[in-house]
Amino acid sequence: MNPALSQARAIEAKGLVKRFKTGRSHIEVLKGVDFDALHGDVTMVMGPSGSGKSTLVATLSGLLRPDEGGVKALGEDLWSHRPGRIDRFRLDHCGFIFQGFNLFGALTALQQVTTVLKYKGFSPEEARAKAVVALEEVGLGPRMNQRPSELSGGEKQRVAIARALAKEPRLLFADEPTSALDGENGQVVIKLLQRAAKSHGAAVICVTHDPRLEAYADRIIHIEDGRILDDRRTRAPAPAADRQAVPMGA
Ligand code: ADP
Ligand code: MG
Repeated sequence: MNPALSQARAIEAKGLVKRFKTGRSHIEVLKGVDFDALHGDVTMVMGPSGSGKSTLVATLSGLLRPDEGGVKALGEDLWSHRPGRIDRFRLDHCGFIFQGFNLFGALTALQQVTTVLKYKGFSPEEARAKAVVALEEVGLGPRMNQRPSELSGGEKQRVAIARALAKEPRLLFADEPTSALDGENGQVVIKLLQRAAKSHGAAVICVTHDPRLEAYADRIIHIEDGRILDDRRTRAPAPAADRQAVPMGA
């Protein structure tokens, strides 16, 4: 990756408003949110349950159309595209990690990762090779042939991370990725997300209400009742030389 790019803005949103209809009234869940995130940063979005964190991630990542406002992701005006192109953007550029792991019950760890890569267009051989590297990177080399029922919670989340990272996403979205895990496994997971930002140059956007994760953030954005309350950088942006991306598998 071009080091200059690593300092670039990965995503920028302006004036996001999202309303949901409940019965006859509407509730406004995002009330004019401006947001941005840089490549190479772990940007943590923190706030109480119900404050709009998941809704924000969904509008930033092309999953949920905002009622007002726009999102510029990797230079593209995301919501101006037709739905198929938005799906393609997600497939090509976004990785997702959720609280509930979202793994397929019938597939082994290796198959979970190769399936996504084949869908992206890699040949079976390439997909397998990339999947093995990604699973080894998260420490699951010895567990590759096990299914979710044979894995611990921490291991399942690491499979989900390997699946997200294997396609080398420029944008990595994590929604409460540690909330189903104990402290130790939560730390493993957040360190892997941090590595995705630091050595692969991804923009990591991690939503959480877990204060233990604050220490791993480059930037902390507080959201409450659909509004950004504060936005604080906890670490100076790393010099470009420290952010040279190592290609996955190198
Ligand atoms: P958080 O992730 O911070 O807990 P959410 O973004 O999931 O918050 O939800 C914010 C608010 O929006 C909550 O009050 C929730 O009940 C409401 N909400 C979320 N999704 C929907 C939906 N599809 N329909 C109606 N209300 C919703
Ligand atoms: Mg949520």
